[in-house]
Amino acid sequence: MPFTANRQFKKSPRMFVAAKDMHYTTSDGRQVLDGTAGLWCVNAGHARPKITEAIAKQAAELDYAPAFQMGHPKAFELANRLVDIAPEGLDHVLFTNSGSESVETALKVALAYHRVKGDGSRTRLIGRERAYHGVNFGGISVGGIVTNRKMFGTLLTGVDHMPHTHNLAKNAFSKGLPEYGVELADELERIVTLHDASTIAAVIVEPVAGSTGVLIPPAGYLKRLREITKKHGILLIFDEVITGFGRLGTPFGADYFGVVPDIMVTAKGLTNGIIPMGAVMVSAEIHDAFMGGPEHVIEFFHGYTYSGNPVASAAALATLETYKDEDLLTRGTEMGVHFAEALHSLRGEPHVIDIRNIGMVGAIELEPIAGSPTKRAFSAFLAAYEAGFLIRTTGDIIALSPPLIISKAQIAELIDGLRAVLRSID
Ligand code: PLP
Repeated sequence: MPFTANRQFKKSPRMFVAAKDMHYTTSDGRQVLDGTAGLWCVNAGHARPKITEAIAKQAAELDYAPAFQMGHPKAFELANRLVDIAPEGLDHVLFTNSGSESVETALKVALAYHRVKGDGSRTRLIGRERAYHGVNFGGISVGGIVTNRKMFGTLLTGVDHMPHTHNLAKNAFSKGLPEYGVELADELERIVTLHDASTIAAVIVEPVAGSTGVLIPPAGYLKRLREITKKHGILLIFDEVITGFGRLGTPFGADYFGVVPDIMVTAKGLTNGIIPMGAVMVSAEIHDAFMGGPEHVIEFFHGYTYSGNPVASAAALATLETYKDEDLLTRGTEMGVHFAEALHSLRGEPHVIDIRNIGMVGAIELEPIAGSPTKRAFSAFLAAYEAGFLIRTTGDIIALSPPLIISKAQIAELIDGLRAVLRSID
Protein backbone atom coordinates (compact mmCIF):
# COMPACT_ATOMS: atom_id res chain seq x y z
CA MET A 1 0.00 0.00 0.00
CA PRO A 2 1.27 3.51 -0.80
CA PHE A 3 2.79 5.52 2.08
CA THR A 4 1.16 3.13 4.57
CA ALA A 5 2.32 1.07 7.53
CA ASN A 6 1.34 -2.14 5.69
CA ARG A 7 1.62 -4.62 8.54
CA GLN A 8 -0.25 -2.42 10.98
CA PHE A 9 -2.99 -1.81 8.40
CA LYS A 10 -3.46 -5.47 7.57
CA LYS A 11 -3.80 -6.35 11.24
CA SER A 12 -6.45 -3.71 11.68
CA PRO A 13 -7.79 -2.45 8.32
CA ARG A 14 -9.54 0.88 7.92
CA MET A 15 -11.85 0.67 4.93
CA PHE A 16 -14.16 3.24 3.38
CA VAL A 17 -17.04 1.87 1.33
CA ALA A 18 -19.01 5.02 0.48
CA ALA A 19 -18.82 8.81 0.68
CA LYS A 20 -21.24 11.72 0.41
CA ASP A 21 -20.57 15.43 0.88
CA MET A 22 -18.58 15.80 4.14
CA HIS A 23 -18.66 12.16 5.25
CA TYR A 24 -17.21 8.76 4.54
CA THR A 25 -18.97 5.52 5.48
CA THR A 26 -16.71 2.80 6.88
CA SER A 27 -17.01 -0.93 6.20
CA ASP A 28 -18.46 -1.33 9.70
CA GLY A 29 -21.16 1.23 8.93
CA ARG A 30 -19.81 4.27 10.79
CA GLN A 31 -19.84 7.86 9.51
CA VAL A 32 -16.44 9.61 9.44
CA LEU A 33 -16.21 13.39 9.03
CA ASP A 34 -13.65 14.19 6.33
CA GLY A 35 -11.12 16.58 7.85
CA THR A 36 -8.66 16.26 4.97
CA ALA A 37 -10.71 16.37 1.74
CA GLY A 38 -9.52 12.81 1.10
CA LEU A 39 -5.86 13.60 0.42
CA TRP A 40 -6.22 17.38 -0.02
CA CYS A 41 -8.22 16.84 -3.19
CA VAL A 42 -11.99 16.52 -2.65
CA ASN A 43 -12.46 20.28 -2.39
CA ALA A 44 -16.18 20.27 -3.32
CA GLY A 45 -17.04 17.36 -1.03
CA HIS A 46 -17.89 13.83 -2.04
CA ALA A 47 -20.07 12.35 -4.79
CA ARG A 48 -21.27 15.65 -6.18
CA PRO A 49 -24.01 14.85 -8.75
CA LYS A 50 -22.85 17.28 -11.47
CA ILE A 51 -19.43 15.63 -11.53
CA THR A 52 -20.55 12.01 -11.30
CA GLU A 53 -23.16 12.57 -14.03
CA ALA A 54 -20.61 14.24 -16.33
CA ILE A 55 -18.29 11.26 -15.93
CA ALA A 56 -21.00 8.73 -16.78
CA LYS A 57 -22.15 10.74 -19.80
CA GLN A 58 -18.64 11.24 -21.16
CA ALA A 59 -17.69 7.58 -20.75
CA ALA A 60 -20.68 6.61 -22.88
CA GLU A 61 -20.11 9.33 -25.51
CA LEU A 62 -16.34 9.36 -26.11
CA ASP A 63 -14.40 7.07 -23.83
CA TYR A 64 -10.90 7.70 -25.12
CA ALA A 65 -9.17 9.63 -27.85
CA PRO A 66 -5.46 9.25 -28.62
CA ALA A 67 -3.54 11.99 -26.88
CA PHE A 68 -0.80 12.22 -29.54
CA GLN A 69 -1.51 13.89 -32.91
CA MET A 70 -5.27 13.82 -32.13
CA GLY A 71 -7.55 15.90 -29.95
CA HIS A 72 -11.07 16.17 -28.60
CA PRO A 73 -13.09 19.28 -27.73
CA LYS A 74 -13.35 18.85 -23.96
CA ALA A 75 -9.58 19.02 -23.40
CA PHE A 76 -9.45 22.37 -25.21
CA GLU A 77 -12.55 23.62 -23.41
CA LEU A 78 -10.98 22.64 -20.10
CA ALA A 79 -7.71 24.38 -20.99
CA ASN A 80 -9.69 27.56 -21.70
CA ARG A 81 -11.66 27.35 -18.45
CA LEU A 82 -8.39 26.91 -16.54
CA VAL A 83 -6.88 29.94 -18.24
CA ASP A 84 -10.02 31.90 -17.22
CA ILE A 85 -9.41 31.27 -13.52
CA ALA A 86 -5.59 31.16 -13.49
CA PRO A 87 -3.46 34.16 -12.55
CA GLU A 88 -3.00 36.63 -15.41
CA GLY A 89 -0.26 35.52 -17.76
CA LEU A 90 -0.53 31.75 -17.32
CA ASP A 91 -2.36 30.98 -20.50
CA HIS A 92 -1.20 27.65 -21.90
CA VAL A 93 -1.87 24.20 -20.45
CA LEU A 94 -0.31 20.71 -20.58
CA PHE A 95 -2.38 17.90 -19.08
CA THR A 96 -1.00 15.07 -16.94
CA ASN A 97 -2.47 12.40 -14.65
CA SER A 98 -1.16 13.33 -11.22
CA GLY A 99 0.75 15.85 -9.20
CA SER A 100 3.96 13.86 -9.58
CA GLU A 101 3.62 13.87 -13.37
CA SER A 102 2.82 17.57 -13.33
CA VAL A 103 6.06 18.21 -11.45
CA GLU A 104 8.14 16.17 -13.91
CA THR A 105 6.43 17.96 -16.78
CA ALA A 106 7.14 21.39 -15.30
CA LEU A 107 10.81 20.60 -14.69
CA LYS A 108 11.20 19.30 -18.26
CA VAL A 109 9.45 22.36 -19.70
CA ALA A 110 11.83 24.59 -17.74
CA LEU A 111 14.95 22.81 -18.99
CA ALA A 112 13.72 22.61 -22.58
CA TYR A 113 12.62 26.26 -22.58
CA HIS A 114 16.13 27.50 -21.86
CA ARG A 115 17.53 25.13 -24.43
CA VAL A 116 15.19 26.19 -27.25
CA LYS A 117 16.08 29.78 -26.42
CA GLY A 118 19.76 28.96 -26.94
CA ASP A 119 20.47 29.11 -23.21
CA GLY A 120 21.27 25.42 -22.80
CA SER A 121 23.77 25.94 -19.98
CA ARG A 122 20.84 26.59 -17.65
CA THR A 123 20.39 23.02 -16.41
CA ARG A 124 20.42 23.35 -12.64
CA LEU A 125 17.18 22.97 -10.65
CA ILE A 126 16.70 24.50 -7.22
CA GLY A 127 14.25 23.07 -4.69
CA ARG A 128 13.89 23.43 -0.95
CA GLU A 129 14.46 21.38 2.17
CA ARG A 130 11.30 19.61 3.39
CA ALA A 131 9.58 20.18 0.03
CA TYR A 132 7.23 17.55 -1.36
CA HIS A 133 6.94 17.42 -5.13
CA GLY A 134 5.59 13.92 -5.58
CA VAL A 135 7.48 10.68 -5.85
CA ASN A 136 9.09 10.51 -9.28
CA PHE A 137 12.80 11.06 -9.79
CA GLY A 138 12.66 14.76 -10.67
CA GLY A 139 10.23 15.45 -7.85
CA ILE A 140 12.25 13.67 -5.17
CA SER A 141 15.44 15.29 -6.47
CA VAL A 142 14.11 18.83 -5.96
CA GLY A 143 12.08 17.63 -2.96
CA GLY A 144 13.53 17.77 0.50
CA ILE A 145 12.05 14.97 2.58
CA VAL A 146 14.86 12.62 3.53
CA THR A 147 12.73 9.46 3.88
CA ASN A 148 11.48 9.94 0.32
CA ARG A 149 15.02 10.38 -1.05
CA LYS A 150 17.57 8.34 0.83
CA MET A 151 16.75 4.91 -0.66
CA PHE A 152 16.93 5.95 -4.28
CA GLY A 153 20.50 6.54 -5.27
CA THR A 154 22.02 9.76 -6.47
CA LEU A 155 18.81 11.20 -7.96
CA LEU A 156 19.13 14.02 -10.51
CA THR A 157 22.49 15.72 -10.41
CA GLY A 158 22.78 19.48 -10.61
CA VAL A 159 20.15 20.12 -7.97
CA ASP A 160 20.53 22.42 -4.98
CA HIS A 161 18.18 23.23 -2.12
CA MET A 162 17.19 26.37 -0.27
CA PRO A 163 16.52 26.06 3.46
CA HIS A 164 12.96 25.48 4.62
CA THR A 165 11.21 28.29 6.47
CA HIS A 166 9.87 26.46 9.53
CA ASN A 167 11.00 28.15 12.73
CA LEU A 168 9.05 27.27 15.86
CA ALA A 169 11.37 29.25 18.14
CA LYS A 170 10.32 32.47 16.42
CA ASN A 171 6.97 31.75 14.81
CA ALA A 172 5.07 29.24 17.00
CA PHE A 173 1.31 29.81 17.15
CA SER A 174 1.34 32.27 14.25
CA LYS A 175 -2.07 33.09 12.85
CA GLY A 176 -1.75 33.28 9.08
CA LEU A 177 1.66 34.24 7.70
CA PRO A 178 4.57 33.94 10.14
CA GLU A 179 6.30 37.21 10.88
CA TYR A 180 9.92 36.07 10.84
CA GLY A 181 11.96 34.59 8.04
CA VAL A 182 11.63 36.67 4.87
CA GLU A 183 15.44 36.81 4.72
CA LEU A 184 15.51 33.04 4.05
CA ALA A 185 14.60 33.91 0.46
CA ASP A 186 18.02 35.54 0.18
CA GLU A 187 19.54 32.06 0.41
CA LEU A 188 18.64 31.89 -3.26
CA GLU A 189 21.06 34.76 -3.89
CA ARG A 190 23.74 32.74 -2.09
CA ILE A 191 23.02 29.73 -4.32
CA VAL A 192 23.13 31.95 -7.41
CA THR A 193 26.48 33.33 -6.28
CA LEU A 194 27.78 29.80 -5.79
CA HIS A 195 26.66 28.32 -9.12
CA ASP A 196 26.17 31.44 -11.28
CA ALA A 197 22.75 32.29 -12.69
CA SER A 198 23.81 31.11 -16.15
CA THR A 199 23.68 27.49 -14.87
CA ILE A 200 20.26 27.67 -13.20
CA ALA A 201 17.05 26.81 -15.05
CA ALA A 202 14.36 27.03 -12.39
CA VAL A 203 13.39 27.27 -8.76
CA ILE A 204 10.44 25.17 -7.60
CA VAL A 205 8.51 25.75 -4.36
CA GLU A 206 5.14 24.96 -2.90
CA PRO A 207 3.56 28.33 -1.97
CA VAL A 208 2.55 26.58 1.27
CA ALA A 209 4.40 23.32 1.87
CA GLY A 210 1.59 20.88 2.63
CA SER A 211 2.65 17.26 2.83
CA THR A 212 5.68 17.97 4.99
CA GLY A 213 3.39 19.34 7.67
CA VAL A 214 1.93 22.69 6.56
CA LEU A 215 4.87 25.10 6.49
CA ILE A 216 3.49 28.56 5.83
CA PRO A 217 5.87 31.02 4.16
CA PRO A 218 6.97 34.06 6.15
CA ALA A 219 5.34 37.33 5.10
CA GLY A 220 7.09 38.69 1.99
CA TYR A 221 9.09 35.51 1.31
CA LEU A 222 7.49 34.47 -1.99
CA LYS A 223 7.58 38.04 -3.35
CA ARG A 224 11.29 38.15 -2.65
CA LEU A 225 11.83 34.80 -4.39
CA ARG A 226 10.00 36.23 -7.42
CA GLU A 227 12.24 39.32 -7.45
CA ILE A 228 15.43 37.27 -7.24
CA THR A 229 14.37 34.77 -9.94
CA LYS A 230 13.32 37.58 -12.28
CA LYS A 231 16.55 39.47 -11.76
CA HIS A 232 18.60 36.40 -12.76
CA GLY A 233 16.44 35.03 -15.61
CA ILE A 234 15.53 31.95 -13.57
CA LEU A 235 12.05 30.46 -14.00
CA LEU A 236 9.87 30.30 -10.91
CA ILE A 237 7.68 27.20 -10.63
CA PHE A 238 4.86 27.09 -8.08
CA ASP A 239 3.77 23.59 -7.14
CA GLU A 240 0.11 24.31 -6.42
CA VAL A 241 -1.02 20.70 -6.19
CA ILE A 242 -2.39 21.45 -2.72
CA THR A 243 -2.77 25.24 -2.76
CA GLY A 244 -4.70 25.27 -6.06
CA PHE A 245 -8.47 25.35 -6.43
CA GLY A 246 -9.58 27.38 -3.44
CA ARG A 247 -7.59 25.83 -0.61
CA LEU A 248 -6.27 29.20 0.63
CA GLY A 249 -9.53 31.08 -0.02
CA THR A 250 -8.33 32.23 -3.44
CA PRO A 251 -8.38 30.28 -6.72
CA PHE A 252 -4.63 29.65 -6.47
CA GLY A 253 -1.85 30.30 -3.97
CA ALA A 254 -0.40 32.73 -6.52
CA ASP A 255 -3.52 34.88 -6.03
CA TYR A 256 -3.25 34.72 -2.25
CA PHE A 257 0.35 35.91 -2.27
CA GLY A 258 0.07 38.27 -5.25
CA VAL A 259 3.00 36.51 -6.93
CA VAL A 260 2.70 35.04 -10.43
CA PRO A 261 5.12 32.22 -11.26
CA ASP A 262 6.28 31.35 -14.79
CA ILE A 263 4.97 27.79 -14.46
CA MET A 264 2.20 26.50 -12.21
CA VAL A 265 1.79 22.83 -11.30
CA THR A 266 -1.68 21.54 -10.38
CA ALA A 267 -3.57 18.25 -9.85
CA LYS A 268 -5.78 17.00 -6.97
CA GLY A 269 -8.61 19.57 -6.79
CA LEU A 270 -8.70 19.85 -10.59
CA THR A 271 -11.12 16.92 -10.75
CA ASN A 272 -12.19 17.02 -7.11
CA GLY A 273 -10.01 13.95 -6.69
CA ILE A 274 -12.41 11.72 -8.61
CA ILE A 275 -10.40 10.96 -11.74
CA PRO A 276 -6.60 11.22 -11.81
CA MET A 277 -5.60 14.39 -13.65
CA GLY A 278 -3.08 17.19 -13.42
CA ALA A 279 -2.40 20.35 -15.38
CA VAL A 280 0.72 22.45 -15.85
CA MET A 281 0.15 26.05 -16.83
CA VAL A 282 2.81 28.19 -18.48
CA SER A 283 3.19 31.73 -19.76
CA ALA A 284 2.82 32.66 -23.43
CA GLU A 285 6.51 33.46 -23.50
CA ILE A 286 7.39 29.89 -22.58
CA HIS A 287 4.84 28.42 -24.98
CA ASP A 288 5.91 30.64 -27.85
CA ALA A 289 9.59 29.82 -27.40
CA PHE A 290 8.82 26.27 -28.57
CA MET A 291 6.88 27.32 -31.65
CA GLY A 292 9.78 27.77 -34.08
CA GLY A 293 10.98 25.24 -36.66
CA PRO A 294 9.10 23.39 -39.38
CA GLU A 295 5.39 22.95 -38.65
CA HIS A 296 5.28 19.19 -39.12
CA VAL A 297 7.82 18.63 -36.35
CA ILE A 298 6.74 17.86 -32.78
CA GLU A 299 7.69 20.87 -30.65
CA PHE A 300 7.96 19.21 -27.23
CA PHE A 301 8.82 15.53 -26.90
CA HIS A 302 6.76 14.74 -23.84
CA GLY A 303 3.25 13.53 -23.00
CA TYR A 304 1.21 10.70 -21.53
CA THR A 305 -1.24 8.21 -23.05
CA TYR A 306 -3.90 9.69 -20.77
CA SER A 307 -3.01 13.39 -21.10
CA GLY A 308 -6.33 15.22 -21.34
CA ASN A 309 -8.30 11.97 -21.20
CA PRO A 310 -11.94 12.71 -22.19
CA VAL A 311 -13.50 11.36 -19.00
CA ALA A 312 -10.97 13.20 -16.82
CA SER A 313 -11.60 16.37 -18.84
CA ALA A 314 -15.36 16.03 -18.36
CA ALA A 315 -14.84 15.47 -14.63
CA ALA A 316 -12.62 18.56 -14.40
CA LEU A 317 -15.09 20.73 -16.34
CA ALA A 318 -17.93 19.67 -14.05
CA THR A 319 -15.69 20.24 -11.03
CA LEU A 320 -14.87 23.79 -12.13
CA GLU A 321 -18.60 24.43 -12.68
CA THR A 322 -19.37 23.14 -9.19
CA TYR A 323 -16.67 25.41 -7.72
CA LYS A 324 -18.19 28.35 -9.62
CA ASP A 325 -21.83 27.58 -8.74
CA GLU A 326 -20.98 27.48 -5.03
CA ASP A 327 -18.18 30.11 -4.95
CA LEU A 328 -15.89 27.45 -3.55
CA LEU A 329 -12.70 28.99 -4.93
CA THR A 330 -13.15 31.93 -2.56
CA ARG A 331 -15.33 30.47 0.21
CA GLY A 332 -12.24 29.71 2.27
CA THR A 333 -11.57 33.40 2.84
CA GLU A 334 -14.59 33.79 5.09
CA MET A 335 -14.76 30.23 6.39
CA GLY A 336 -11.01 30.34 7.07
CA VAL A 337 -11.65 32.93 9.79
CA HIS A 338 -13.92 30.52 11.70
CA PHE A 339 -11.56 27.65 10.99
CA ALA A 340 -8.58 29.58 12.39
CA GLU A 341 -10.47 30.59 15.50
CA ALA A 342 -11.60 27.03 16.21
CA LEU A 343 -8.15 25.60 15.46
CA HIS A 344 -6.28 27.99 17.73
CA SER A 345 -8.66 27.13 20.58
CA LEU A 346 -6.60 23.91 20.84
CA ARG A 347 -3.65 25.89 22.20
CA GLY A 348 -2.87 24.62 25.68
CA GLU A 349 -4.24 21.11 25.05
CA PRO A 350 -1.87 18.21 25.87
CA HIS A 351 1.21 17.72 23.60
CA VAL A 352 0.50 20.80 21.42
CA ILE A 353 3.68 22.79 20.62
CA ASP A 354 2.38 24.77 17.65
CA ILE A 355 -0.79 25.60 15.77
CA ARG A 356 -0.70 27.30 12.39
CA ASN A 357 -3.27 28.13 9.71
CA ILE A 358 -3.81 29.67 6.32
CA GLY A 359 -7.09 29.65 4.40
CA MET A 360 -8.64 26.22 4.86
CA VAL A 361 -5.42 24.54 5.92
CA GLY A 362 -4.38 24.04 9.49
CA ALA A 363 -1.70 22.17 11.41
CA ILE A 364 -1.25 21.11 14.99
CA GLU A 365 2.31 20.15 15.81
CA LEU A 366 2.76 17.73 18.71
CA GLU A 367 5.72 17.21 20.98
CA PRO A 368 7.25 13.92 19.75
CA ILE A 369 7.57 11.04 22.22
CA ALA A 370 11.27 10.91 23.11
CA GLY A 371 12.94 8.21 21.00
CA SER A 372 9.75 7.42 19.04
CA PRO A 373 9.12 10.19 16.56
CA THR A 374 5.77 10.00 14.65
CA LYS A 375 4.25 7.60 17.22
CA ARG A 376 2.18 10.20 19.06
CA ALA A 377 0.67 11.68 15.91
CA PHE A 378 -0.10 8.22 14.57
CA SER A 379 -1.91 7.42 17.83
CA ALA A 380 -3.90 10.63 17.34
CA PHE A 381 -4.75 9.55 13.78
CA LEU A 382 -6.01 6.14 14.95
CA ALA A 383 -7.96 7.61 17.88
CA ALA A 384 -9.54 10.24 15.60
CA TYR A 385 -10.59 7.58 13.12
CA GLU A 386 -12.21 5.55 15.91
CA ALA A 387 -14.00 8.70 17.06
CA GLY A 388 -15.31 9.40 13.54
CA PHE A 389 -12.83 11.95 12.15
CA LEU A 390 -10.41 11.65 9.25
CA ILE A 391 -7.24 13.63 9.87
CA ARG A 392 -3.80 13.38 8.26
CA THR A 393 -0.52 13.11 10.08
CA THR A 394 3.03 13.54 8.89
CA GLY A 395 5.87 13.26 11.36
CA ASP A 396 4.30 14.52 14.59
CA ILE A 397 2.15 17.06 12.81
CA ILE A 398 -1.61 16.80 12.36
CA ALA A 399 -2.72 18.47 9.13
CA LEU A 400 -6.31 19.51 8.48
CA SER A 401 -7.71 20.51 5.09
CA PRO A 402 -11.45 19.81 5.03
CA PRO A 403 -13.59 20.02 1.91
CA LEU A 404 -14.39 23.67 1.20
CA ILE A 405 -18.13 23.00 1.70
CA ILE A 406 -17.63 22.42 5.44
CA SER A 407 -20.13 24.23 7.69
CA LYS A 408 -19.32 26.19 10.85
CA ALA A 409 -21.03 23.45 12.90
CA GLN A 410 -18.87 20.79 11.25
CA ILE A 411 -15.71 22.83 11.94
CA ALA A 412 -16.72 22.93 15.62
CA GLU A 413 -17.42 19.19 15.59
CA LEU A 414 -14.03 18.43 14.04
CA ILE A 415 -12.08 20.61 16.46
CA ASP A 416 -13.98 19.37 19.51
CA GLY A 417 -13.35 15.81 18.33
CA LEU A 418 -9.65 16.56 18.07
CA ARG A 419 -9.64 18.14 21.51
CA ALA A 420 -10.98 14.89 22.97
CA VAL A 421 -8.41 12.90 20.99
CA LEU A 422 -5.50 15.02 22.26
CA ARG A 423 -6.73 14.54 25.83
CA SER A 424 -7.03 10.77 25.32
CA ILE A 425 -3.61 9.88 23.89
CA ASP A 426 -0.28 9.43 25.68
N1 PLP B 1 3.20 18.19 -5.27
C1 PLP B 1 2.63 18.50 -4.11
C2 PLP B 1 2.83 19.87 -3.54
C3 PLP B 1 1.84 17.57 -3.43
O1 PLP B 1 1.30 17.89 -2.27
C4 PLP B 1 1.64 16.31 -4.02
C5 PLP B 1 0.82 15.30 -3.33
O2 PLP B 1 0.47 15.43 -2.18
C6 PLP B 1 2.28 16.03 -5.23
C7 PLP B 1 3.04 16.98 -5.84
C8 PLP B 1 2.14 14.67 -5.85
O3 PLP B 1 0.86 14.45 -6.32
P1 PLP B 1 0.40 12.95 -6.70
O4 PLP B 1 0.30 12.20 -5.42
O5 PLP B 1 -0.93 13.19 -7.38
O6 PLP B 1 1.41 12.41 -7.63
